Amino acid sequence: MHIAVRAEEIREQFLQELEGLPHDAHQIKLLKDKYLGRKGLVADLFSTLKDVPVKDKPNAGKILNELRQSLSIKFESYIKTLDSNGENMNHGDLTLPEDPYLIGGIHPLTHTLNEINSIFIKLGFSTVYGPEVDTDFFNFEALNIPKHHPARDMQDTFYVKDGVVLRTHTSNTQIHTMLKNDPPIKIIAPGRVFRNEDISVRSYCLFHQVEGLYIDKNVSFADLKGVLSHFAREMFGQNVKTRFRPSYFPFTEPSAEMDMSCFFCDQKGCNICKYEGWLEILGCGMVDPEVFKSVDYNPENWSGYAFGMGIERIAMLKYGVKDIRLFYEGDTRFLGQFV
Ligand SMILES: [Zn+2]
Repeated sequence: MHIAVRAEEIREQFLQELEGLPHDAHQIKLLKDKYLGRKGLVADLFSTLKDVPVKDKPNAGKILNELRQSLSIKFESYIKTLDSNGENMNHGDLTLPEDPYLIGGIHPLTHTLNEINSIFIKLGFSTVYGPEVDTDFFNFEALNIPKHHPARDMQDTFYVKDGVVLRTHTSNTQIHTMLKNDPPIKIIAPGRVFRNEDISVRSYCLFHQVEGLYIDKNVSFADLKGVLSHFAREMFGQNVKTRFRPSYFPFTEPSAEMDMSCFFCDQKGCNICKYEGWLEILGCGMVDPEVFKSVDYNPENWSGYAFGMGIERIAMLKYGVKDIRLFYEGDTRFLGQFV
């Protein structure tokens, strides 16, 4: 048989036996003797060299040397995986930390929302949910934002088709609730909203809001201030101060934005509060009589307040998160910190 063919046979046979070799010192010695011993298969093949024609001898010698070398290297590296008892040590690096066993956790936005919910539920609010895809009527018209109203430009809208939008705020749930129920009403409506905004550290094409609505007889702006100031203290600490600035929303009149004292710097001024000592938290106001008219409530009999806040905004302040996109990327290095 040609030496090269036989050499290849021996190599394959050796590798096969090495792979199935029991971790037993005696068996290991037998294998070494069988292939690399003085009377082993390799030596055996070397002994046939004398029959090879002179002109082929150099090449055949080279093949045999390579065979002996490669088998020795394989065998030595196998031996290195064994400990002194011949046990296989090839378990990887035992000094490495064990694989992290990832357990699931509540997403920081869900956690923040749960906290917000529980504060308002204790005050007697119940939770309702509205549709994310809604008609122009619920998202705009009934909230006193008629077509061509400049307020529509405040919220870059995703249109599903003519007259149907991805809701731009959770305020649509106010209308659904009021059309289905008679007052008094005391609800919060959390959910996802969508706006066609450039994605950056501060804005994303979707985010989450909690809407609040309270309608009863003789509800005043003082009630609104009391409830929202209580919320801020429950959420961020009893030392938090609040202030209300006049603002504009089409569906409330008067409208305000609530700020709270910056707890990062104790109002001394920092880059988070833009050196003003105050942080914007939410928008609010007294329900506009036009909204009552669109759901057939008599504004002479009923009054109420509404408010809305971004859950991401609250979570970013609460946990010191600087990039809103982290909430949506599913990066376990970020999410794992909240487990
Ligand atoms: Zn500050």
